[in-house]
Amino acid sequence: MCGIIGYIGEQNAAPILLDGLKKLEYRGYDSAGIAVMNENGLSVAKVTGRIANLYEKTDGGLSVTGELGIAHTRWATHGAPTVANAHPHLSNDGRFALVHNGIIENYVSHKNTLLKDGYRFESETDTEVMVHLLEKYYRGDVKAALTKACSELRGSYAFGVICRDVPDTVFATKESSPLIIGIGLGENYFASDITALLPYTRDVIYLDDGELAEIKADSVKIYDKEGNEIKKSTQRITWDIGAAEKGGYEHFMLKEIMEQASAVRETLSSRIVGDGFCFEDADCLENINKIIITACGSAYYAGCSGKYAIEKLCKIPVSLEFASELRYGNPIIDGHTLLIVLSQSGETADTIAAMKECKSR
Ligand code: GLU
Repeated sequence: MCGIIGYIGEQNAAPILLDGLKKLEYRGYDSAGIAVMNENGLSVAKVTGRIANLYEKTDGGLSVTGELGIAHTRWATHGAPTVANAHPHLSNDGRFALVHNGIIENYVSHKNTLLKDGYRFESETDTEVMVHLLEKYYRGDVKAALTKACSELRGSYAFGVICRDVPDTVFATKESSPLIIGIGLGENYFASDITALLPYTRDVIYLDDGELAEIKADSVKIYDKEGNEIKKSTQRITWDIGAAEKGGYEHFMLKEIMEQASAVRETLSSRIVGDGFCFEDADCLENINKIIITACGSAYYAGCSGKYAIEKLCKIPVSLEFASELRYGNPIIDGHTLLIVLSQSGETADTIAAMKECKSR
């Protein structure tokens, strides 16, 4: 999970956005970026690696000036962690800048249509289709363009959007990815998590799936999927930052245990269509006759649950292997074997080595 944040008010947005990104660092990321707007248009800065690199690139936020902006930490799902793939992404006409957390599952078909329509893609991300859809559907009303584009997406998203034509508003909307609005005095915010906003405000509105927020410095309006304005109550956060990082729970382990249901729901929801599942590249799964799950530590125990679930649902034999054993073993693998590799950090050396070994076979 990665993070997004947006600001509009009377202060220079960039230092606040950078500070917010730092607070979201714990969610994990591989690159980061920021877009700020002023009378001269949009300024964008993007980097790979740490937020510290973004501080450096923007002189602590001082070199990108403007009183509204959006920022992002990316955990790459589509396309390598590069500057071109980092968010914000821009529309071809330079009117829109957009940040996204999540996955747009049906991006391939949108991308093909947009390419035929003549839109130019600068990145390998799934995200970029959205900013071109906005340009395509924009007829002077950002909210309407956002609503229409979102109605055509399948997947999970929290979007933050700014538009050159509307220099007094930031827009945010979500489906299956977290997003909250922070209410300040003459300034307002959105973010993936309360921790990013607590230094500035304790008054928040939780956005629900399908809702869209039109955020100005002195007002926040929320709309439902059909574009009707709805009233939502503001909630006051009483925890301190330490507790907020733990989501109000006494300690991190308890938080993670309690989050399991929503984590599973968020992970699977974009794959569920009606009563069935949907995989973008389902063809390659058709001739699988054996599955190996490999992992280390607690990811290995998660693999145990996976083995029982997959064997029950798919009736395909699943073997579970410690990655540290598999990498030095002599795994029997052919073109009909599916290897599922689990790692909490994405960096477990034995697990990566096991994956490379199996791939080479
Ligand atoms: N799927 C998008 C990408 O790969 C967003 C990833 C994220 O949530 O950071 O760029």
